[in-house]
Amino acid sequence: MFEILFLGTSASAPSAKRGLSAQVVKHDEFRFLIDCGEGTQRQILQSGLGFKNLTRILLTHGHLDHILGLGGLLSTFLRWEAVDKLEIYGGRSTLDRVHDLLYGVVLRGNQPPMPLHLNEIKPGPFFETDDFTVTAFPVSHRGPDCLGFVFEGRARRPFLPEKADELGVPFGPERRDLVAGREITLGDGKRITPDDVLGPLRKGAKLVVVGDAGKTENLLEVSKDADTLVIESTYLDEEAEMASQFHHLTARQGAELAVNAGVKKLILTHISRRYREKDVLKEAQAIFPNTAVARDFDSFQIKREE
Ligand SMILES: [Zn+2]
Ligand SMILES: [Zn+2]
Repeated sequence: MFEILFLGTSASAPSAKRGLSAQVVKHDEFRFLIDCGEGTQRQILQSGLGFKNLTRILLTHGHLDHILGLGGLLSTFLRWEAVDKLEIYGGRSTLDRVHDLLYGVVLRGNQPPMPLHLNEIKPGPFFETDDFTVTAFPVSHRGPDCLGFVFEGRARRPFLPEKADELGVPFGPERRDLVAGREITLGDGKRITPDDVLGPLRKGAKLVVVGDAGKTENLLEVSKDADTLVIESTYLDEEAEMASQFHHLTARQGAELAVNAGVKKLILTHISRRYREKDVLKEAQAIFPNTAVARDFDSFQIKREE
């Protein structure tokens, strides 16, 4: 299961109610901050999330409304808050601009207060644990090296406790061994195999996060069967021409992608000050009913829906 917490949901400039792009994806003790618009550190404080464990930052692209908050964040780390390390992931040209901001403006010859790594990533998996993976994929927007991210739980066979009870498997290490795929022998010599107590393979939860994007055709494959798709919605259909001119999407385009990719839930973000939230929602829901428009501090859980 994943959780996504929206810290900033405004497009291009903040509004009274919406901060600039930032969201945190959580899984167990892991935290991934995706984008870091201006003001993100205050949103982090206000959300109660805290800075601890917030050591991984993934960047969708290098536009200022998605990266300027890194300067303030690092400045705070220089004086106040301590984190063990900071790993920033993004495409080449995104990291070039971030390097200028952090080393040219904030640090200016000083050492970072913690190990600071700018990790260039290309489309493909770049972070894995025993039970989930994070994969980058290419997104078309203004400028090169724009990326989106897929968080996917590994497929697992669920443990069936009633079967284990029936077979007399005691609680404790025996059950752990079976879950780990090891055969066990009970006190009476009876052998139990993992197949005896594990159900059929089940896919893990899938969360797809797209930052700014100018078209959706190349997002169809990667969004297939996602439990939740998060995507920008800077314009409404009435200004579709302007959307395409500035390489952004309309609510309608996001909703059509959700339908075509067969996702379970759609969350729209990167909302422009020029529209009312309810109009964005209405346009998308007419096409894909299970749509939400994210507000700052909204949080959603992503589970595998059967
Ligand atoms: Zn943007
Ligand atoms: Zn952008």
